[in-house]
Amino acid sequence: MKNITVIGSGTMGNGIAHVFAQNNYKVSLVDVNESALKKAVETIGKNLDRQVSKGQLTEADKDMALANLTVYTNIKEGAENADLVIEAATENMNIKLDIFRKLDEIAPSHCILASNTSSISITKIASVTKRADKVIGMHFMNPVPVMKLVEIINGYKTSAEITKTITDLSKAIGKVPASSNDYPGFIANRILMPMINEAIISLHEGVGGVEEIDTVMKLGMAHPMGPLQLADFIGLDVCLAILNVLHNGFGNPKYAPCPLLVNMVTAGNLGIKSGEGFYKHTPGSKELTVSPMFANIKAGN
Ligand code: NAD
Repeated sequence: MKNITVIGSGTMGNGIAHVFAQNNYKVSLVDVNESALKKAVETIGKNLDRQVSKGQLTEADKDMALANLTVYTNIKEGAENADLVIEAATENMNIKLDIFRKLDEIAPSHCILASNTSSISITKIASVTKRADKVIGMHFMNPVPVMKLVEIINGYKTSAEITKTITDLSKAIGKVPASSNDYPGFIANRILMPMINEAIISLHEGVGGVEEIDTVMKLGMAHPMGPLQLADFIGLDVCLAILNVLHNGFGNPKYAPCPLLVNMVTAGNLGIKSGEGFYKHTPGSKELTVSPMFANIKAGN
C-alpha cells in the first residue's frame, strides 16, 4: 500500500493526511473547497514545525512529509490511483453516500474505501458500492497526530482480510487499533456521548455549575478534560448529530439529547469553532472562562 487519498481537508482530514505523509506514504488530499485545502496545508506545515521544535522530527522528515502531499479539488484526479481512500468529509449521510458512489466508480478495484465517520453506519455507506467487502470504518481521534487510537469498524460485509490489512496499517503508522462492530456510535461515541449528555442534563437541572461538573470529572475520574470542555472541543453540533444517530438508531429515550444542547446548537453556540459554548474561547488563548449564560449556575447557596 503506497497511495493514500484523503477526502475532506478539515479538522480531521488534515490530521490524517499529516500522519500518512509523515510515515512516507504518498498522500492525495481532496476537498471541494479550495480555501479549506490551502488552510489544511498551512496547518500541516505548522504542526510539522511544532514536532521539529520538540525534537520529535528532523527538518528532513518535515520536508519529506510535505513533498509526499498533493492537493486536489477534483475527486477523480485525487482518487484514480489510490490503494486506500479515507473519507473525512462533513458528517452528513447524503454527502458521504454521494462520495462513496463516486469513489466506487473512480478508484481501482483493489482499493479499500474507509470512512472516518463518528457515527454513520458503515454498512449503509458500503451498500451504495459494489465492493461492500472492502468498505470499513477507520475512526481517528482529534487531534490525529497526537491521539493514538484508531477505532476500526467492521461493516456487515467487511471481509476479515480487509480488517486485518487496516489493523496492520494502523500499527504501521504508530497508532493503536481497537475493533468495533457496526452499531450506532460504535464503541467510542456510544459510551462518550451519553456521558457528555448527562453532564449537560446535570447543568440544565442545576445539579452543579460548568466548572464544578468539569472539576469532578477531571480530578475525581482522572479525565484529562471535563465533559463540558470536551463537548466544546468536539463541537456541540457534532455532539448533537451523534446523539440523534444513537437516539434514532436504538429508539431508546436514554439517548435523547438534552434540550439545552439543542437550544445551544440552534442559537449557534457550538463551542470552540464558534467562540462560545459552555466556555468562552479566545483564538490563540488556552484560558477558559465560563460562558456568561452559565455564570450564575453553582451548587449550594
Ligand atoms: P470539518 O467540517 O472540519 O471538515 C469537513 C471538510 O469536508 C470540509 O473542508 C469540507 O469542505 C469538506 N467536504 C464537504 N463535502 C465534501 C465533498 N463532497 N468532497 C470533498 N470534501 C468535502 O469536519 P471534521 O471535524 O474534520 O469531520 C470530518 C469527519 O470526521 C466527520 O465524519 C466527523 O464525524 C469525523 N470525526 C470528527 C472528529 C472531530 O473531533 N471533529 C473526530 C472523529 C471523527
